[in-house]
Amino acid sequence: MEPMTYVLFGATGDLAKRKIYPALYNLFVDGKLPPSFSIIGLGRRELSNDTFQSQVEQSLRQFSRRSANAVSSSDLNAFLSAFRYHPLDVNNTEDYRKLLQLVKSREDELNMKSNRLFYLSVAPEFFDVIALQIKESGLGDTEGWKRLIIEKPFGHDLSSARSLNAKLSEAFEENEIYRIDHYLGKSMVQNLETLVLANPVIQAVWNKDHIANVQITASETVGVEERAGYYDNAGAIRDMVQNHMLQVLMMTALHLPSQITPSNIKDEKRKIIQSLQPINKPEAALSVVRGQYASGSVNGKDVPGYLEEPGIEATSKNDTFVAARLWIEDPKWEGVPFYIRTGKRMSGKSTRIVVEFKNPTKELYLSRNEITSPNLLVIEINPNERVSFQFNGKNFASNGNLEPVQLSFNAEQDKLPEAYERLIFDALRGDATFFAHWNEVELSWQWVQPILEAFEENLVPLHSYEAGSNGPEASDQLLEEDGFEWWLDP
Ligand code: NAD
Repeated sequence: MEPMTYVLFGATGDLAKRKIYPALYNLFVDGKLPPSFSIIGLGRRELSNDTFQSQVEQSLRQFSRRSANAVSSSDLNAFLSAFRYHPLDVNNTEDYRKLLQLVKSREDELNMKSNRLFYLSVAPEFFDVIALQIKESGLGDTEGWKRLIIEKPFGHDLSSARSLNAKLSEAFEENEIYRIDHYLGKSMVQNLETLVLANPVIQAVWNKDHIANVQITASETVGVEERAGYYDNAGAIRDMVQNHMLQVLMMTALHLPSQITPSNIKDEKRKIIQSLQPINKPEAALSVVRGQYASGSVNGKDVPGYLEEPGIEATSKNDTFVAARLWIEDPKWEGVPFYIRTGKRMSGKSTRIVVEFKNPTKELYLSRNEITSPNLLVIEINPNERVSFQFNGKNFASNGNLEPVQLSFNAEQDKLPEAYERLIFDALRGDATFFAHWNEVELSWQWVQPILEAFEENLVPLHSYEAGSNGPEASDQLLEEDGFEWWLDP
């Protein structure tokens, strides 16, 4: 891997402390950072290098999956000595000029070619101004590569996403922009590509002839927490559906490309999102369920309703739950409904995909008053990382009757790198497979836009659901209309 400078905007923020420093540290310990690297942290406050390095060390001790005590102090010191701090206000041109001097002096000191990664761990309203200043200050003029990492939200709707992208494109080429959707960093989402594409037996049945429906669930037990200001303007549709849910759907429905390369995977994902049947505004209520949590009990604890949460308008019509039925209009998936549901304050925390296979043998044992269960492939993404397959077997331990049996594969969770580790590593080596390409982002917004408008115009009823439940009953009815039901509670 080539030497590089990692310029971190928002270095004193929460994301940097909880995720980015631990990820960099684990990459360092695993020998996955280049032999020479410089990390420059930027924040509004004045800080000495020493204080900054101690803050980084503190965050490793608190948040790293591998405790800072687990490595030798010389390793830790070598890691921390790569960090420098520079105060910068995102709007101040002079601050960028000084930053360039610091970046260059470290490159000279370490005798490094200039490859620069700019990580924007700051509020999204700063993305465009920072990208422009990087260009105008000369920070973007490198001998080697330059890359930009940003994290969702990429816009608030289709038009703001387009205008943000147009501004970023003035300073960075598309292949230099790495958009993090941290779901794409999760090991089971990355594993989907292999599970589905690299197994001929699964490939053979991965189509409308064998699959009855696909169910993608991302449920949380938490409420709006401290994010009221952001969440009340976003809702589950922007916070989860436009990005994470649609990314997981694209990864699930991928067609087999001729070779697995980042650009082929990107093309296959684009084809899926492009083939999504549009949900038109007037008919949105037929395919989309919108909900908002009321008070209730979660994990044995009484919790307030959404409208009683601090910072939420008492009249808010914001969605904390969305379920939808989607159709992919291509010959492979014709007639197979893809259901998605996501919500806060649900009965359990789980992100998973359930693939229900068609069951032509259902009545094979009717003469014995028994019916077979459909085969299910369950891919658990979070909090467990597991793949299980449900098939029919005889229960010899009791009456010899048919019963569903599970075959499971569990990932060894404590040994797995975290999503940010994987994504930062990929960005450093220039592999964009698990980042959101602009095409996907734009097409996702395009698909979601009529639903956003239908919500705003109240064309989709807002159902209330009790905290700690499985969401509004209307979400069960959505599947019942097609003769299906949600497998497993959230
Ligand atoms: P934060 O408020 O904790 O930190 C913000 C950082 O931005 C600080 O370092 C601050 O110094 C810097 N900053 C603010 N105004 C500035 C200015 N005018 N000039 C220069 N620097 C300025 O925020 P956070 O939680 O670290 O989140 C950062 C970004 O990452 C946000 O866009 C957020 O949506 C996103 N994000 C955060 C998390 C998380 O877990 N915290 C998860 C996913 C995405």
